[in-house]
Amino acid sequence: MQNECEQKHIKSLELRNSILGMMADSDVETGLDEGPDRGLELIFDSMEDQIFIIGTSGRIMSVNRAAVSHLGYSEDELLDMQAGDLIEGSNPKLLSMAEQMARNEKTVFETGLIRKNGSEMAVEISAKVISYEGYEALLCVARDIAGRKRAEIELRRCVEDLRESNDLKELFTDIIRHDILTPAGIVLGFTEELQRYEHDDTTAFALRRIHENTRKLIGLLDSATKLSKLQKVDEIAFDRMDIVPLFCSAVENFRSDIEEKGHSIEMDTAIKCVAMANPILEEVFANLLSNAIKYSPQGSRIVVDFLDANDAWKVTVKDYGHGIQDTDKSYIFNRFQRADKKGIRGTGLGLAIVKRIIELHGGMYGVEDNPEGRGSVFWVVVGKA
Ligand code: ADP
Repeated sequence: MQNECEQKHIKSLELRNSILGMMADSDVETGLDEGPDRGLELIFDSMEDQIFIIGTSGRIMSVNRAAVSHLGYSEDELLDMQAGDLIEGSNPKLLSMAEQMARNEKTVFETGLIRKNGSEMAVEISAKVISYEGYEALLCVARDIAGRKRAEIELRRCVEDLRESNDLKELFTDIIRHDILTPAGIVLGFTEELQRYEHDDTTAFALRRIHENTRKLIGLLDSATKLSKLQKVDEIAFDRMDIVPLFCSAVENFRSDIEEKGHSIEMDTAIKCVAMANPILEEVFANLLSNAIKYSPQGSRIVVDFLDANDAWKVTVKDYGHGIQDTDKSYIFNRFQRADKKGIRGTGLGLAIVKRIIELHGGMYGVEDNPEGRGSVFWVVVGKA
């Protein structure tokens, strides 16, 4: 038969193991190397978490120092109270605790503990059935979650703000697409019409400026809406397609600019390069080609190559123009980033569109110096079919 002292020691050990189990992920100093009883006391009193031991009748049987300091009651006052006096909206919570007790399970729930001054403290309670002084009791560890609650509220507010600003962005994109681009197109059309009949120098100059700026406006709005649409999608559909005709189509669309600047486009149009791609890839080729035209001198060569890169096609666009400084290469694919513009008009969106479309293809992109001297080589890689 165990004597009273042995029983007390066993009880301490049981309680200590229960607490340790419940604070498995807590980083509180345990002080266990000072012996189980002293260690237990240290655990109790050094814990930031409040500890309550509650009897089956709901009476509070033991509390630690944190419970006293957080709730504002004295230890004696707490030991005179029922658990239900402390828990906000106590009945359902206590019922569920009682059920858990009956099933001998650990339970975790969030609730509010009522302080002596009537204010409420948000806590997460972990409760577990233990043996205390020979009786079944509930060991409750209450952790202050006010900070977590505040962070949750802040996070919810941020999500709401983000949703609102996304809705606004979509509204603006729609307005740009339907209500600004259409009238701008009409202005461009009428300006071209007027230019045909206007011979007065001053008026012709004004019309030229209107035309140039309206084209710029349309280019910017068009690129911005395209990029915004591309940012919204996570996936695009792929088909087996020969990407050479896509490049040829881009060349056709820039035919008048190419002729105006007297460029020669060197490209093997007879080659067949079947890739898993989306027709939107033409937009990539159009941007690379239009940059090669814009940023290289009158009459210079533009060389397009389709290279076999094992399971992918590498498409390179080489020009003999200004080239790009090494320090600029890392950021020109980001939106609204323009390097040395040399007075050339642009939006800083073309390469961001290239980047996004290639990302959606799971491919790669980049730029290098033209090894033959002046100019640069822009390249993209897309998977073969
Ligand atoms: P934009 O041409 O409208 O400014 P892009 O995103 O297409 O915007 O290009 C970003 C920047 O990269 C350009 O402003 C230019 O400085 C540089 N760049 C792009 N293509 C070339 C090129 N072929 N040669 C030299 N610089 C280029």
